[in-house]
Amino acid sequence: MRIVIIGGGVMGSALAWWLLRDLAFSGELVVVERDPSYRQASSALSASSIRQQFSIPVNIAISRFGFAFLRRVDGLLAVDGEAPALSLLERGYLILAGERGESVLRANHEVQRAHGVEVALLAPDELRARFPWLSVEGVALASLGLSGEGWFDGWALLQGFRRAAIALGARYLTEEVVAGERRGSRAMAVRLASGERIAGDIFVDAAGPWAGRIAAMFDLELPVEARRRCVYMFETPEPPAEAPLLVDPSGFWCRPEGRGFICGRPPSPEEDLPDLPLIAEDRFFEEEIWPHLAHRVPAFERLRLHSSWAGYYAWNRFDQNALLGPHPEVENLHFMAGFSGHGIQQAPAIGRGIAERILHGRYLGLDLSPLDVERLVAGRPLREQAVI
Ligand SMILES: Cc1cc2nc3c(=O)[nH]c(=O)nc-3n(C[C@H](O)[C@H](O)[C@H](O)COP(=O)(O)OP(=O)(O)OC[C@H]3O[C@@H](n4cnc5c(N)ncnc54)[C@H](O)[C@@H]3O)c2cc1C
Repeated sequence: MRIVIIGGGVMGSALAWWLLRDLAFSGELVVVERDPSYRQASSALSASSIRQQFSIPVNIAISRFGFAFLRRVDGLLAVDGEAPALSLLERGYLILAGERGESVLRANHEVQRAHGVEVALLAPDELRARFPWLSVEGVALASLGLSGEGWFDGWALLQGFRRAAIALGARYLTEEVVAGERRGSRAMAVRLASGERIAGDIFVDAAGPWAGRIAAMFDLELPVEARRRCVYMFETPEPPAEAPLLVDPSGFWCRPEGRGFICGRPPSPEEDLPDLPLIAEDRFFEEEIWPHLAHRVPAFERLRLHSSWAGYYAWNRFDQNALLGPHPEVENLHFMAGFSGHGIQQAPAIGRGIAERILHGRYLGLDLSPLDVERLVAGRPLREQAVI
């Protein structure tokens, strides 16, 4: 059997590793990755944080598995005794809601508690007592993750999967897929920019923000597009100690990183256009983020912007959730796409799930079927309420 994975980011590489360590696999595994420096790949530009505070049980289960995986990564992904230096830090997300967001926060809390998440709702006075550096003005309620949340080095995770997959026999080709060949309900081959044709038995679209373009090469429509998200890094003379990852009702998120902090916020819907150049504009930070940061954390009034970068979310226009598994119209073309900003934490679980689906025809561990790409065709969205 020959499996061809298009895209060797964290998803494609996680899948390659899970496939090759499964005894049911025999044959050849090719990962076509056009840029081994990953300059524009989401996995290299991610804020790499992991949370359990989702609104949908399957996303909660995926992250719970992910966190357990990250904790054990040394034993799992070490090659020649060298494990990826993930620097996993366990620190909760603190999600603040104003009056308008309070009912959603409470509804999410119910789902999370029912699925074993350790999470606490805090009223403004409890919040003030616990985080004295925070202004609670305009906050009706907060939700704090008590375990299984935090952040890590996403680049190290990507490289860890990639190195471990290569050690097991994955062949990474530095090539660009430029066309697909399909006969009826089967994908037959991909064409590379070099002119080479690679035939295969199974194909996987793991092309991140460009997954929609790969789908189109097989005459399929996938509502996934590249939406720019900017990250700003700053330092401040008196940083709040032991800060969690903060999500503000105004839309910004912020968390410690090294000696400073990183932060970002989604642009307005009118400005959120596909394929914008990967440039983080200082103006956006100064006008749209800083005033809110300084309002929420007065110590941030004296911050100094240090650096910035921009990366693409693989935005799923349909329902902002992963699109997984074989396409109903092309049975041997699997998708790992549309992660809409929460993919890096999902890579361990989704890599395993898609490997099971390919090799065993069904999910053996976590049931990821609510995320089947088939829901697109059925017109049945599964909307995630907690998109950051
Ligand atoms: C600013 C930012 C912050 C984020 N924060 C978080 C977070 O805190 N937590 C979280 O869980 N997630 C976060 N994410 C999302 C997360 O990083 C992604 O969901 C995840 O990295 C997706 O991995 P991927 O492998 O699907 O995509 P990618 O890493 O983009 O990999 C896709 C690969 O496909 C290759 N490719 C594309 N087209 C072709 C082609 N035609 N031929 C050959 N190769 C091709 C590309 O070169 C690329 O390397 C964030 C993303 C961004 C941009």
